[in-house]
Amino acid sequence: MTALEALYRDVVLEHNRRPRNFRRMAAPCGCTDGVNPLCGDRLMVCLRLDGETIAEASFEGSGCAIAVASASMMTEAVAGRTRTQALALADAVSGMLRERSGDLLDGDLAALAAVSAYPSRVKCATLAWEALRAGLTSGATRVSTEDEGAPQDTWAQANESARNGH
Ligand code: ZN
Repeated sequence: MTALEALYRDVVLEHNRRPRNFRRMAAPCGCTDGVNPLCGDRLMVCLRLDGETIAEASFEGSGCAIAVASASMMTEAVAGRTRTQALALADAVSGMLRERSGDLLDGDLAALAAVSAYPSRVKCATLAWEALRAGLTSGATRVSTEDEGAPQDTWAQANESARNGH
């Protein structure tokens, strides 16, 4: 086992056993459901923004160890970052996983690089990051790793319906 594989195993197991920010958020600005039909992962990522800064990120739902661990790391990594910084980090994670490109990231995120050796699991690892990206860019309430072709509701529409009591 290489050093990266050992790090990966330890970090994924640890985050999966004790996921960070795994809870329902009281007053989110919006939540985005991330679904990965290929594996059965379904995670809802919620964000609370303070201006351009992500004050709080949380997730709930269920998924495989890689999906849960990556979501746990994501919520820790983006808290306190600006919208732009968080999207840049999502790009860096995605690049590292899909193209094995770019520099290794710091801390626990570096361990995710090992997933790039298992292409069928890459979508598990990127799921929470894609939900984050969708929330921050289009404000979509749902994102799938597979193209579903259906129009997506947005945070604005969801908040509007909530206000109207629907
Ligand atoms: Zn999975």
